[in-house]
Amino acid sequence: MIERFIDPEKIEADSECIEMSPLFLGERVRDGRRFRGFELVEAGEVDEEGVEIAGECEDRIGLHVIAEGISDDSAQAIESLFSEVLGRMKGVEYRFRRENVVIIVSMDSADSFTPECVGETIFRTVKSIKAVNKVKVRIVCDKDEFEKVLERASEIHAEREMRSRNLAERDVQEFFICESCKAYLPYHACIITPERPSPCGTLYTEAKSASELETVSYYSPVEKGEVVDAEKGEYSGVNEEIERRTESRVRGVKIHSVLENPPLTGNFAEAIVFYIPERDGFGIADRNYRRKTPIGLRFAEMEKFILGTQVEGFVGISFAYMKSKGFLKGEGGWKRVVWVSPKIYEFIKGFLPDEILKNISTEKE
Ligand code: SF4
Repeated sequence: MIERFIDPEKIEADSECIEMSPLFLGERVRDGRRFRGFELVEAGEVDEEGVEIAGECEDRIGLHVIAEGISDDSAQAIESLFSEVLGRMKGVEYRFRRENVVIIVSMDSADSFTPECVGETIFRTVKSIKAVNKVKVRIVCDKDEFEKVLERASEIHAEREMRSRNLAERDVQEFFICESCKAYLPYHACIITPERPSPCGTLYTEAKSASELETVSYYSPVEKGEVVDAEKGEYSGVNEEIERRTESRVRGVKIHSVLENPPLTGNFAEAIVFYIPERDGFGIADRNYRRKTPIGLRFAEMEKFILGTQVEGFVGISFAYMKSKGFLKGEGGWKRVVWVSPKIYEFIKGFLPDEILKNISTEKE
């Protein structure tokens, strides 16, 4: 089991205001203060370095960083460090990514987890990255400012997603494996390709630049090898690597399949695809959908038995994957989807044609 991911020789992820240790990664906080958050790192010029706190942090804490000297690809790689940096703080649980961050702080750590402390810790971490010249950290708590920067974050994340989507699996020789969730799930490994962002939404370009910046050790390149099945997304190199990383518990994956050797599902899947035998089709429920799905299971119930493993008929996915040209392509893609939760319906309305949408029901129907 990997216990430390950020390379301590390359990045200083430490703090003087709150106890931090890689041993706290994976800590679950049941009761405590809950904050809604977001992550945004932008590459840009910085006039004055330092930490700025915008507003009083009651139930919101947005993490906004401007870093000078790096590319936009590197900015997104730095953004992906926040979950680990804050997750190393004692009594702090950091869930989800980008615009959907939730931070839970135990009552014992609530006095130390101040916006100033969070800002200084992030400043120190980002500043220690060799490629970064200057850093400005903004901790955004003010309600209006929070919503404003959150909207900007969504736009920037959408642009990055679009850039990543222009690549196809056939255009690259290597994919990436992420083992960040090994702290919780010892035999887990996610595969990230240009056509399949991870279940928590990590894009191929993000994993690639993080791996190149060498800031973390949980992304690693994997030679895709021979194409075994282009439609279902099966590659010899990926199979070998998944078998090795799961200590032979999983023999291989078909990246775009649900029914046959689907990819493993990590801790922060944004949605779950499930097979509905009566319709010979698929349903998709998002994490916030609390009701029973057409197969009689709720999201949390499905997640419990698929976490960190391979269960045919179920797979964790991200919203970014729903927009991918590879989406379940080996099994009919969107034509095979017959039910989605209302939040997903709202999302897919933005890009799927009417002739596909008319065959997809939601809860209301
Ligand atoms: S879900 Fe997968 S990609 Fe996301 S952090 Fe976990 S292992 Fe990494």
